[in-house]
Amino acid sequence: MAAQTQIVWFKRDLRVEDHAPLRLAAEAGPVLPVYIIEPDYWALPDTSGRHYDFLLETLDELSQQLCALGAPLVVKTGEARDVLSALFAAYPDCRLLSHEETGNQWTYQRDIAVGALAREAGVEWLEVPPGGVIRRMKSRNGWAARWDKDRAGPVSGAPAFCGVDWPADPIPDAEQLGLKADACPQRQTGGRAAGLNALNSFLTERGAPYRKAMSAPDAAARHCSRISPYLALGSLSMREVAQAGWARQAEIETAGQRGGWSGAMRSFMSRLHWRDHFMQKLEDEPEIEWRDMHPGLEGLRPRSADPERLDAWERGETGVPFIDACMRCLNQTGWMNFRMRAMLVSFASYHLWQPWQATGERLARLFTDYEPGIHWSQVQMQSGTTGVNSIRIYNPVKQGLDQDPDVRFIRRWLPELEPVPADFIHEVWRWPGFEAALEGRYPRPVVDVMQAAREARERVFAARKQPGFKDASRRVLARHGSRAPMRRRSNPPPQAKPDNQLQLDL
Ligand SMILES: Cc1cc2nc3c(=O)[nH]c(=O)nc-3n(C[C@H](O)[C@H](O)[C@H](O)COP(=O)(O)OP(=O)(O)OC[C@H]3O[C@@H](n4cnc5c(N)ncnc54)[C@H](O)[C@@H]3O)c2cc1C
Repeated sequence: MAAQTQIVWFKRDLRVEDHAPLRLAAEAGPVLPVYIIEPDYWALPDTSGRHYDFLLETLDELSQQLCALGAPLVVKTGEARDVLSALFAAYPDCRLLSHEETGNQWTYQRDIAVGALAREAGVEWLEVPPGGVIRRMKSRNGWAARWDKDRAGPVSGAPAFCGVDWPADPIPDAEQLGLKADACPQRQTGGRAAGLNALNSFLTERGAPYRKAMSAPDAAARHCSRISPYLALGSLSMREVAQAGWARQAEIETAGQRGGWSGAMRSFMSRLHWRDHFMQKLEDEPEIEWRDMHPGLEGLRPRSADPERLDAWERGETGVPFIDACMRCLNQTGWMNFRMRAMLVSFASYHLWQPWQATGERLARLFTDYEPGIHWSQVQMQSGTTGVNSIRIYNPVKQGLDQDPDVRFIRRWLPELEPVPADFIHEVWRWPGFEAALEGRYPRPVVDVMQAAREARERVFAARKQPGFKDASRRVLARHGSRAPMRRRSNPPPQAKPDNQLQLDL
């Protein structure tokens, strides 16, 4: 009897190492590795040309690796249901294997449709949990201990397999998918080799000043790991990253290595926890992609965005130099450090009083590392709609003074401010020479920074005083809050306790 064909559906797990579906498939029969480019997905407002370019680079490398193991990757274009349906018809005795995916609403619905198709066709779909994020989790208790146990589990190597032939489709270019031109000249390169390079150079050379450097945009770009886009598309697995981190920690301890390494590695390992902790929220409540996490904050901001304000924000033309420099940097590089991402959201959500859904979509398109689970949880947190975190309204002038004291970052990204003396640059609108030197070249600020923050604070305070607010906060916390054991190996995540603090970053 011929062995059952094993269709391995690659999604956001674009690697051959530590890939349980591929390993299980290789052990069971001939393997057909497939990736589906889904035009409807690429029409979504949270996708972009830079995502697609990064994906194509990643697929190219993956295909070469698969080819060396048994057969190249078969890239198909179309609706997943149609592509898989054709495969099921061609290989009636087949099994579908993939990882569980915690993606956006669209991929969630698509997986439901594929599940129904597989059932109708009588095909088994083995969805392997990726570990770290737990489907249908009953309670958050014990989550961190499970994380440690899973991440310490065996990392399987790339398996050789017997390949199955199936004609691939020509790969559409971004324009054919209807994606807008999206030049991102300093974007990170896709693929596993680049991911491993980022991880290794961080662990052995770049990481020592991580803790101090992570807050300032320039230093962070050099000293943060920069592995996020590789984790987002799965060309690196979280298990192998965690184990590389633990191994490095052990090495540092044994060697008594100084120079910041020990603290850097503790902070890094905490953040790996945070990633899955945030993704777990979306897995547990997919609606947080569009609905306020705290029901008492629904309708706090207008539902529709002011496109003019958001365009100015996205282009880096708000007239607030540090915001604009960060935005222009993000446009060109596809990456920004955590603090500045938080500040950009805070500015749009509080100062500009825009709905976080619209802001979040625009940022999602700009981040090469867009990961819905982290992204929507963070966007809500930085917009104050979780109801359980202390609220922080970042003052962009203070952030500029703290994180870019020598104004090198602003000068690089806003060359039109070249004539402005350094002492005035963070509040350029106060510079007496503004009119003569900058009128028509750089905008006046779209809002009064201090006044807008005060008004936002008052609105948020009023909403949080509504009856029943605290009870609802407790329910959000019970569902999504981290539990104490998470602190064993790492620092507490930033949303550990319920509190009604409002922090104005004056
Ligand atoms: C509004 C907002 C949106 C964000 N959207 C995304 C997103 O779409 N994709 C994404 O990967 N990260 C997102 N982050 C989290 C964080 O900013 C990035 O993970 C980090 O800057 C990526 O750079 P790095 O790989 O050098 O991180 P490092 O500092 O080197 O950290 C290593 C890894 O830990 C994880 N991590 C780090 N910080 C956090 C955090 N605060 N929360 C959760 N996980 C974290 C990431 O997987 C990261 O790659 C967002 C943060 C904010 C405030």
